[in-house]
Amino acid sequence: MKKIVLATGNPHKVEEFNRFFAERNFPVVLLSMREAGFSGELVEDADTFEGNAHCKALTVARATGMLCVADDSGLEVDALGGAPGVFSARYAGGHGDDEANIRKLLEELRDVPDDRRTARFVCAICAVKFDPNEVESTLLVRGTVEGKILRGKRGDGRFGYDPVFFYEPLGKTFAELDGTTKNAVSHRGRALENLLAEAEERNFFLNGE
Ligand code: IMP
Repeated sequence: MKKIVLATGNPHKVEEFNRFFAERNFPVVLLSMREAGFSGELVEDADTFEGNAHCKALTVARATGMLCVADDSGLEVDALGGAPGVFSARYAGGHGDDEANIRKLLEELRDVPDDRRTARFVCAICAVKFDPNEVESTLLVRGTVEGKILRGKRGDGRFGYDPVFFYEPLGKTFAELDGTTKNAVSHRGRALENLLAEAEERNFFLNGE
């Protein structure tokens, strides 16, 4: 099995990515950046999801010398000009305060009519590796899922903005879906599918380019 590194401090993300590859019999196993010996901090100050994913993957690939993958995701609301976007985790100030972030989002959208509450989750995934001459190769993909922001929360599963993100094809919020169903339609699931397709085409994870 080829070992690659996922630039995250979140062990659940490593598990989720590994499950995805294992279910498709793809012969790679992901290590967390700590398991790969990276103990630094990751900077996420780009103004796009792709920029952040690239920055994180590059930092860890450089430090470990291993092929490295990173993702970055968030919510874009059309009536807010794409906000919270790359600031999704810290929209209300503190990092990862889901309750406060949802409260702020609903407040900002209070006067926005139902038909203008369109939004999407976006996930960018970047893989970076270096050849023996230190030349960088990059693979960059994105996945999105369209939905609408409700006026209140529905369901209490999952995390982030899931309870207010209504997915019309299933008539449910993301917080009302079980994990397998959410992964099948989510921005992250779609980005992972795109990653696998492009990695296979370019033979990026194994020996080729
Ligand atoms: P990260 O880049 O995966 O850490 O995601 C950044 C932020 O975007 C999270 O803290 C959430 O606020 C939001 N987010 C990303 N993906 C999801 C999702 O699937 N459901 C709900 N919120 C999400």
